[in-house]
Amino acid sequence: MTDPVRLRPKRPCPICSKPSQQKFHPFCSNRCAQIDLSRWLGGHYGIPAVEAEDDRQEGSDES
Ligand SMILES: [Zn+2]
Repeated sequence: MTDPVRLRPKRPCPICSKPSQQKFHPFCSNRCAQIDLSRWLGGHYGIPAVEAEDDRQEGSDES
């Protein structure tokens, strides 16, 4: 018998990585949903108090 792949019951919020709420799926809250929305609309979002996964390290490759 093979071990079944353990699927996660819930996906974390793509914005803040918190457990997503079914009500705001796939986000954890309406706030994160709005953040994601504005993210698509404006490209950049200036909403404080929320640290999104923004890779600031754009390759520190000094040549
Ligand atoms: Zn969230």
